[in-house]
Amino acid sequence: MEDRFGQPRRDMVERQLRQRGIRDQAVLAAMGKVPRELFIEAGLRDSAYADGPLPIGCRQTISQPYIVAYMTELLELQGGESVLEIGTGSGYQSAVLAETAGRVYSVEVIPELSAAAGDLLSTRLGYRNIFFRVGRGQEGWPEFAPFHRILLTAAPAAFPAGLFAQLGEGGIVVAPVGDGEQRLIRYRKQGGVIRSDELIGVVFVPLV
Ligand code: SAH
Repeated sequence: MEDRFGQPRRDMVERQLRQRGIRDQAVLAAMGKVPRELFIEAGLRDSAYADGPLPIGCRQTISQPYIVAYMTELLELQGGESVLEIGTGSGYQSAVLAETAGRVYSVEVIPELSAAAGDLLSTRLGYRNIFFRVGRGQEGWPEFAPFHRILLTAAPAAFPAGLFAQLGEGGIVVAPVGDGEQRLIRYRKQGGVIRSDELIGVVFVPLV
């Protein structure tokens, strides 16, 4: 028997993602599978598949589904990559990455959020390829570097350039950047050189 969120989840994938241009089949499949209703406050479950961000406690928010899909698609994942994620939050984006990449190393500055995400993802949902660390994302996770991909889900005023040292050759970074006005930026490392593309305007909590 299917749970009551199956239909809203499929509708979200169709209307909010596919019809708006998300093409990556692995991203669409991941978002059709991860139970977003478990990542938000229990009282808000009926809004789990609404077309917007939602509160996750500690004054933080989970991004709009489209933004999660768009950022994941920009990472051009093939399935085996190791990904550094900065800003675990609820762990929803971590789960989408765990479905589309190889290993996810997720750093969160608020201990309660990291612990709750670890409990949900590892204990309840059984993910074995997501690793959690409490700390400042600007420092990355040197023990597991270099990463094939780096994703920020909190916005620095300027990109913390030290993180590029933890990005492997041919790697991609996707990050919201800006103070007030934010833009999504994609960086690529090729021949040791970083090139950047500015994409859409976004609204994320600041990287602290
Ligand atoms: N991707 C998350 C939402 C992230 S909200 C999800 O799917 O739910 C942004 C998160 O970044 C918040 O949890 C916030 O506490 C965290 N954050 C802010 N500054 C940080 C920093 N310097 N290092 C690590 N995490 C940080």
